[in-house]
Formats: sequence, structure tokens, C-alpha cells
Amino acid sequence: MNNKPLILIVEDEEGICNFISAILLSNEYNVIKAAKGKEAVSMAASYCPDLILLDLGLPDMDGVEVLKTIRQWTRIPVVVVSARGHEREKVEALDLGADDYITKPFGTSELLARIRTAMRHSQKSMTENPSETGKINVGELEIDYSKRLVTIAGNEIHLTPIEYKIIVLLSRHIGKVLTHDFIIKEVWGPYTNEIQALRVNMANIRRKLEVNPAEPKYIVTEVSVGYRMVEDL
Ligand code: CA
Repeated sequence: MNNKPLILIVEDEEGICNFISAILLSNEYNVIKAAKGKEAVSMAASYCPDLILLDLGLPDMDGVEVLKTIRQWTRIPVVVVSARGHEREKVEALDLGADDYITKPFGTSELLARIRTAMRHSQKSMTENPSETGKINVGELEIDYSKRLVTIAGNEIHLTPIEYKIIVLLSRHIGKVLTHDFIIKEVWGPYTNEIQALRVNMANIRRKLEVNPAEPKYIVTEVSVGYRMVEDL
């Protein structure tokens, strides 16, 4: 086999599976397929793919159960594929260690973007040291971690410590959706439910960061799931 990244597609609907497979094959990926959960678990173990695209609605076992089983022994990036309206399952999957999700029906560019982001994050977390140094730039936004400084077009943005924590967290996972629960636990600690505080803080952050806070471009809302800082504008 060559050096192209190997992706395991777990999907029981043949049409969708072939659609995804065709996109991936024409974009320099190798593909293996599983139509059932048990098959997916054993293929993940025997082939060690670089990424798994996991449909949550499988005939023999729940996609979330497949994810739980896989996560017992590997950090392989997993992008969950779900049907529209299944927000609870998506959130559950993300909180159980899925790297991202994509909702059916989806387009080619969205699929490829999710895959690239998830693979890059998994490589980063293996190679990068977690110290908070360096800078990140998105459009006119710059975050300088060593100076704890956030600027827009060179102008300093004054943030409260909580607002700064939220921005840094999102930027450390740039391109990736973070669930409400994950953000709250990281910012406020494990024993709180600060969903209202998170909403208020996010509104304040957007007021300071965005030209039009009602149509944010730096931090977007993933309805019923969480927030995502975009990678490029
Ligand atoms: Ca399905």
C-alpha cells in the first residue's frame, strides 16, 4: 500500500457509503468500508486507519457504542456522521471523544474540511507540547498567548479572565466544534452547569470581537451543540 492516509467509512447505507468513498478516493485518501458496528470495531483494530467516519445509526449496534469501544484503546480521530435533528447523539458522541461531526446531507468541501481538521488535531496533540506559547491569527484577530493579548487589526481587545479563557480554549481547538459541556468543564470546573454564564460570556466576547455580533465570523454557533472558532475567513 502507498502512503495515502487510510480512512475507515462506517456506514450501512450503500449509496452514502459509495458517495463518500468516491470523494475520498479522488482526494488522495485510501478507503476501507464497514456496514456494521462489530465489523467497524474489528477493522479499526486490524487496519489502524488514520481516521474513522462513523455513522451513528447502524443496524447492529449504536454508533455511540462503537465509539466507546474504539476509545477504550485508541485515539484515532473519529468524525461522526449523523442525521439532521439528532443533536443529543452528536453531543454525546463529542463528549465521548469524537473529534467532530458532520450532518447529512453534506457537501464535498465540508466533508474534506472536517477530515483535514480532525487529522491535523490528532497529529498536533501527539507532537506539540501543551505550553501556552506562540500566537494564532485568524483574519484580523490575533491571540498572543505569552503576552495574554488579544487584538483585532492591531487594536487591543479588553477581555475578562473568563472571556480570555474561553477564547484561548476555542483557539487551541481551532476548526473543531467544542460542546457546551466541554467548554463549561474546562472553564468553570467539573461540578458546575454554567450554560447561562457561557451564553452571556459568549455574547460579550462577540460584542468585543465581531463587526456584527449577530452574524459572527470568528466564533460560530453550532446549534444545540456548542461553538467553533473558524480556521480561516
Ligand atoms: Ca445509517
